[in-house]
Amino acid sequence: MLNSDDGGGRMESQDLLSVSEARERLLSGVEVLESETIITQTAIGRVMAEGVFAPHDVPTFESSSMDGYAVRAADVASASTDNSVALPVTADIPAGSGIPEALTEGAAARIMTGAPMPAGADAVVPIELTDDACQRDDARVPQYVSVISSVEHGDYVRPAGQDMHSGEQVLRTGNCLRPQEIGILAAVGLARVRVVRQPRVAILSTGDELVEVDGTIGPGQIRDANSFMLASLVRRYGGVPALLGIAGDRTQDVESMLDRALESGTDWLVSSGGVSVGAFDFVRRVVERHGEISFWKVNMRPGKPLCFGHYRGTPFLGLPGNPVSAMVSFEVFARPVLQKLGGRCNLGKPSVEVTVLDEFASDGRESYLRVMVCREDDGFVAHSVGSQDSGILTSLVRANALLMVPAGETHVAVGRRMKAWMLDWVHDEC
Ligand code: AMP
Ligand code: MG
Repeated sequence: MLNSDDGGGRMESQDLLSVSEARERLLSGVEVLESETIITQTAIGRVMAEGVFAPHDVPTFESSSMDGYAVRAADVASASTDNSVALPVTADIPAGSGIPEALTEGAAARIMTGAPMPAGADAVVPIELTDDACQRDDARVPQYVSVISSVEHGDYVRPAGQDMHSGEQVLRTGNCLRPQEIGILAAVGLARVRVVRQPRVAILSTGDELVEVDGTIGPGQIRDANSFMLASLVRRYGGVPALLGIAGDRTQDVESMLDRALESGTDWLVSSGGVSVGAFDFVRRVVERHGEISFWKVNMRPGKPLCFGHYRGTPFLGLPGNPVSAMVSFEVFARPVLQKLGGRCNLGKPSVEVTVLDEFASDGRESYLRVMVCREDDGFVAHSVGSQDSGILTSLVRANALLMVPAGETHVAVGRRMKAWMLDWVHDEC
């Protein structure tokens, strides 16, 4: 027996919207949200709303890349272990020094990593290549230093602008801020940054059988797994979720909870349950009454009932109730919406090419089958994680990928090469 999320696939698949068409319709009206300025320190995971140009060279000055002695390479050209060259040490240049005095010919200046090179010096001899090697704990500057190796002009010297040149674009609109991008912002002196606002998504669970997570379940009742799971998905893809709670299977319940979400301001409304063909599936009717439905059935497994439209002018996505269908439909449809709203340029889900190691059956709808993908010597392989029933959330816990079976296929043979979406690889590169 097929359950309501999966019902009737082959019979009517010609009447259903294809996954790609549904996704296109969903995304066609989506625009990147406006930008806001936030503190750089808290900007991890956010998306740049504008480019950043280096206001100056980084570093701004020529510096040493080693602790050692600044010299003229020509003065130590003959140095070797058997024939060291002794130079008088005429200066000590720690990191943070202002402009150091120029180095005179035939002399050396002790210099630390990141300290400015003195004019006249063109190379650094690392401390390990001098007789100073065993005195690292001694802060006093020796009068002379013996150099045991020659160095080339420019050795161990970082030129000004080695990392960034003045005027160079170092971050682009759409770049997602990872720790390294935050480091760049700090390096160019931006304590605040202009990023795309995070999408606000209101989440509603529907069903008379549902009980809050911390409630006691009576006969015929189940706990609301979807609200928490969908809120986590919203967060994972850069949005800010607002949990509306559980609406009973009554028009008024659904209406009043959606209206409350609109009052507090939301970019998208997402519900789960109540969009199928059951006698108590009120959600679609409520949206129809106060807005319009763009589509409500997609040629997809799991998750055929999927309702997209506008409720009082706000985009509304009704996901199926079965938790697996809800999560897979979210990944397929809501994820790219969130990514686009949030300013990301790449809306793809990271995928790998796998060799299928277990046989799978499908019903001809475009299928997203739960699998475990492992890396073996000659590439990725995909194993079954058991039943593909859309009520079995534990199978999604055992899975780390979704095997994508194109529409029209009913059998996946062992050895087939197919594409699998990696569930936990969150974003493709921007
Ligand atoms: P529906 O789409 O409302 O027909 O629901 C399909 C199945 O998913 C039913 O077995 C529901 O009890 C179940 N379901 C609906 N919403 C949730 C939820 N929030 N958490 C867990 N299961 C749910
Ligand atoms: Mg229901």
